[in-house]
Amino acid sequence: MAQNRFATEIYFDLNDKRKIPALGLGTIPSGDPKGVKDQVIAAVEAGYRHIDTAWYYGSEKYIGEALRELSAKGVKREDLFITTKVWPSFYHSPEKSLDKSLHDLGTNYVDLLLQHWPVCLRGGEDGTPTEPKDKDGNLLYDDDPVTGEKFIDVYNAIEDIKLNTDKVKSVGVSNYSIPKLKQLLPNVKKFVPAVNQIEYHPQLPQKDLTDFCAEHGILVEAYSPVGGPGAPVIKLPYVNELAEKYDVSPNEVINAYHILENRSVIPRSSNLERIQTNIRLPKLTKDELRTLYQIGVVKPTRYTNDPWGYGLGFRYWKGDTLSKNFD
Ligand code: NDP
Repeated sequence: MAQNRFATEIYFDLNDKRKIPALGLGTIPSGDPKGVKDQVIAAVEAGYRHIDTAWYYGSEKYIGEALRELSAKGVKREDLFITTKVWPSFYHSPEKSLDKSLHDLGTNYVDLLLQHWPVCLRGGEDGTPTEPKDKDGNLLYDDDPVTGEKFIDVYNAIEDIKLNTDKVKSVGVSNYSIPKLKQLLPNVKKFVPAVNQIEYHPQLPQKDLTDFCAEHGILVEAYSPVGGPGAPVIKLPYVNELAEKYDVSPNEVINAYHILENRSVIPRSSNLERIQTNIRLPKLTKDELRTLYQIGVVKPTRYTNDPWGYGLGFRYWKGDTLSKNFD
């Protein structure tokens, strides 16, 4: 078997001439967010240069602590790629949201600022509550999630930050379906999103969306690569068969599934050894990549079915009968 390369060595080009490391560390906390500090340090020491976070995750302060410690050890800020996001309840003030993130991260810029969802939720001035609800438990929106267009203004405001300040290098989106991208693209001020960060793994076919992104020069980033808590994706028999064949872990097979198809991938783990060892890149064949994809074609499963995603035009959204039209 040919020697595996390292996923940490691969970089992709963005549409704004910048580069993004293919493998990033996800930072939704598993339990106590303080643990994220050691996860980031472990990752960077193992060669990761890409950290994915969001104001919503509550882990930025601990990433900031890790960055300070790494800086003292000689890791340069400019060698890292840090992403943060503007949550829907902070849609009214993307720059304020970013300023909070920058303060906690202890840096004066992020490499990538994403609109977390194309949705506007009724948060207060400080962005809270993050999931505003009425007394019956229904989400409180400030614009109709299905027909509204305010989400476009939010992306435009994110573009303004790039146009008018030095606080972001690249801008992009997350959780954009084809219909939402079709609404957005004719209305960008200057910057086509560099990235669309979406749920993607072998159980969730997304070829139409990734083809659409590729046609428009938008890099796809795969979140929940092993399906989130419980890691259901790494239990798939074919993933394990490939792991055995290439003498790597199932997690590395999944990372390769994305990276070999030019998608960035951002796994997370509270297990430092897992973070540090899951960095090899097995050279899966085209046939193997196709077989992995077919798992989801036969039995599609989406693990993130949050209520604010309802009606956005995604395939296989649990219970969402609106999300079927891709024309
Ligand atoms: P992942 O798909 O990376 O799954 C992480 C979970 O899988 C953890 O609970 C981890 O447990 C477990 N796991 C991983 N490997 C194994 C293994 N070998 N054996 C047992 N358990 C395992 O999760 P996320 O959903 O968090 O996605 C990754 C990142 O993507 C996030 O952290 C975030 O940065 C981003 N994201 C973005 C979203 C968006 O809306 N833009 C939405 C969701 C995620 P353990 O800790 O024990 O390793």
